[in-house]
Amino acid sequence: MKIIVTGGAGFIGSNIVNEYIHAGHQVSVIDNLHHGFKRNLNSKAVFYRADICDLKAMRRIITKVKPAVINHHAAIAEVIVSIRNPLPTMTVNVQGTINLLQVGGEVGIKKFIFASTGGAIYGDAQHLPTTEAEPTLPVSPYGLSKLLAEECIAYYSRMYGFNYLIFRYPNVFGYHQDPHGEAGVVAIFCERLAHGLPVTIFGDGSKTRDYMYVADIVQANRLALRRGNRITINLGRGKEISDQMVFDTIHDFFPRAPQVRYQPVRSGEVKRSCLRANLATKTLGWKPRWNFATGVADYVAQMHYV
Ligand code: NAD
Repeated sequence: MKIIVTGGAGFIGSNIVNEYIHAGHQVSVIDNLHHGFKRNLNSKAVFYRADICDLKAMRRIITKVKPAVINHHAAIAEVIVSIRNPLPTMTVNVQGTINLLQVGGEVGIKKFIFASTGGAIYGDAQHLPTTEAEPTLPVSPYGLSKLLAEECIAYYSRMYGFNYLIFRYPNVFGYHQDPHGEAGVVAIFCERLAHGLPVTIFGDGSKTRDYMYVADIVQANRLALRRGNRITINLGRGKEISDQMVFDTIHDFFPRAPQVRYQPVRSGEVKRSCLRANLATKTLGWKPRWNFATGVADYVAQMHYV
């Protein structure tokens, strides 16, 4: 199958590219390397360095490739960055998505797979673990941009008749995550603690997230090629992991590293989050295989930290 993966030089996208190539698909990557790296690129993928906001470039590339599937992972994906300066996030995540939908519709794609967010789209949810029935009340421009993109996908799917699957991800961690970014607490903590540097928790350590190892996300994206029809589904383990638990789990690998420092909470970040993924199991036959501790242990080993 011919597949375009946008953001395929980034963390999650590059892991998905590797899996698709391993499964025998013809993969093209679109990425402007804003936050992706050439070293993440699979040499068997055709790489187009381009900005998804550039409609002309998207038309040229997508018309040439004629993919059956666009798997859209390119985005400005950092909540704090979006609060500091909302417009670039809104532009890339909404207008960029519209460009892909428009041209994808014109060339007759069969399916659009999208990386949305469960962590930022529900806001401070009333119910935990949160299901897809929860109202979407984002509290950051990043969450809002993903919500708008979801609406655009449903609209273009109606207009052009292609299928779609929207994933609402939890906090993903694993290989290829940028340890020097502003998001990706597991990668940042591991990198700093491995080098004996202190880390910061914003708040008192009680803020929670649902963490998922990237291998489980990849597995869902593999299944999404065949299953899931015009549907929006959560991925998650339904387990809350606090910032303090993240620190303690990682610090165990680096016992001589300094203890954590605490700083005031940052606005726009929800207090608690975890996602119920029953619909993903029902729709895709998907179940997570890794828990937080085994995922961290695998990541630490892959990075040769210990
Ligand atoms: P990432 O920053 O590592 O990857 C995003 C990629 O998109 C980068 O390679 C970047 O260069 C590329 N990109 C950014 N702007 C672009 C543009 N204008 N044109 C072309 N390429 C562009 O982030 P990630 O963590 O791998 O996230 C991938 C996707 O998953 C994003 O859509 C993100 O919103 C979503 N997501 C991630 C998480 C998580 O925990 N990492 C959680 C929920 C949703």
